[in-house]
Amino acid sequence: MRLDVILTSDRTMMSNYHGKEFLGFGSTGPMFVDLPFKLSEKFHLYLFAPSLEVDKHGFPIQAPYGMRKVEAKLLEAGINARIVDPDHVHRYMDEAKVLMLSHHDYFGLNPPSSTWSVIVGKEPMNAYMFRKFMEDLRPHIAKAKRRGLKVIVGGPSAWQWLMFPDLVERWGIDVIFDGEGEGAIVDVVKRILEGRPVPKYIYIGASEAPTLDDIPVIRGASINGLVEIGRGCPLGCAFCSVTLRPTRWYPLEKIEQELMVNVSHGVVDGILHSDDVPLYGSTGILPNPDKLVALHRLAKKYYRKVGWSHTTFASVLAAEKKLGGLTTKIAEIILDGRQEWWGAQVGLETGSIRLAKKIMPGKAAPYSIDRWWDVVLESMALMHEVKLIPAITIIVGLPGEEPDDVVQTIELIERMRPYRSLVVPLFYVPMSHIRADKRGWMQRVNLLPEHIELLRVVFRHSIYWAKDILNKFYLKDSHNVLLKVFLNYFIGYVEKNVKKIDRYIEAQLSGLTSVRAGPAPRA
Ligand code: SF4
Repeated sequence: MRLDVILTSDRTMMSNYHGKEFLGFGSTGPMFVDLPFKLSEKFHLYLFAPSLEVDKHGFPIQAPYGMRKVEAKLLEAGINARIVDPDHVHRYMDEAKVLMLSHHDYFGLNPPSSTWSVIVGKEPMNAYMFRKFMEDLRPHIAKAKRRGLKVIVGGPSAWQWLMFPDLVERWGIDVIFDGEGEGAIVDVVKRILEGRPVPKYIYIGASEAPTLDDIPVIRGASINGLVEIGRGCPLGCAFCSVTLRPTRWYPLEKIEQELMVNVSHGVVDGILHSDDVPLYGSTGILPNPDKLVALHRLAKKYYRKVGWSHTTFASVLAAEKKLGGLTTKIAEIILDGRQEWWGAQVGLETGSIRLAKKIMPGKAAPYSIDRWWDVVLESMALMHEVKLIPAITIIVGLPGEEPDDVVQTIELIERMRPYRSLVVPLFYVPMSHIRADKRGWMQRVNLLPEHIELLRVVFRHSIYWAKDILNKFYLKDSHNVLLKVFLNYFIGYVEKNVKKIDRYIEAQLSGLTSVRAGPAPRA
């Protein structure tokens, strides 16, 4: 079999993380290959990015959702393209005309990769594995380029290549494609296949974002059954690029087609993806009860277990308080004999109302941002009650953040203690402050002494809840004994050594006058 177009990425992208999407966060963590408690590369991969099942052609049964969309668009245009597992790419390199790469975080610059790296002072696993993948593939790329192969890089972290012109050169990158791909990618690939010139850098702005009709139905299963229900977010946070895109909700028929694709490939649990799932089908900032109920009934018709990619404290609370107990109603649809809980990523960002008013005045909508603490705490109490477990992100070093803002965030996190949740800190640095050092990763922006205390408080909150979440919920049904044993051992070790780890964090950070990071997280 031959392919004209190969779509691929390294193993940290091409894994289903044991069917537990949250474990994929482990692949954004540092490589502990040269610390006192050395772990081999193989062990990292086993824990956080195990290989995927492939067919006889080396095509993965599950693949990243964004790549599935591009693959479907190319196939729809009659182009001979397929997603290929990284271990099988070399089989197609002698004849392929286009190699397309995608990644969430090519060089480990986005949060959370950059955050863990600063704290531990090590290269993130995703950046390490991508670099290794490219170095292994480099001789094949060089040989194929002699007969005309072109390499396109895209995906959510395409912007990172602009920071590394030396690697663009070294790995033979011809086109950097930055933005939603479905509207323009066919034209770009066709131009290459026909030998016509293509710009080196292509940026797709909000005005060129694909319409619902441009966006195809995926042809193969997505990793962990993820199915997009819409794109864009109406809340307008100043630090977030998602808000620049137009809001588009997919019709239920389109969502159903993708659920059926996944189920037909044996993927029977999945995640509904948008930047605020409860807003599905709404035209404003309040959920639409009929559409939200219909969406969840549809999802549960096909999937045994359903999760949410993202939500906000405000929409979960408003659905309950302003729409007659809608959150409870959704929980009653989701939770049944096959499912006892569900998860979502939720952005807290800051506990400072002064700062929240400046940078995310719409985040508490339909409530006033002046009530931010009440919205967060009431929403968390509700989530605890209905067994929605949030992975809460905070941003460290927001523009204009002062010591008192950090102290308020610390106080709010301390008040969140009774509610089952994990809190994940993400460092923020304006893009203009990013620069590459000799090792090729990003460094330095100011860190306040209060941030060290904030990280301690976050760390203690998450450790307090981690064992409960892992054993009573997340890995309750897992048959992977080794994984369970390792994660419980790790949490036990951390619990016993809290003071030592506090000192370690302080030593790592107090010497830094600055930290590195990428664009802000979503939702
Ligand atoms: S940070 Fe979240 S809530 Fe704010 S605009 Fe972005 S996606 Fe919407």
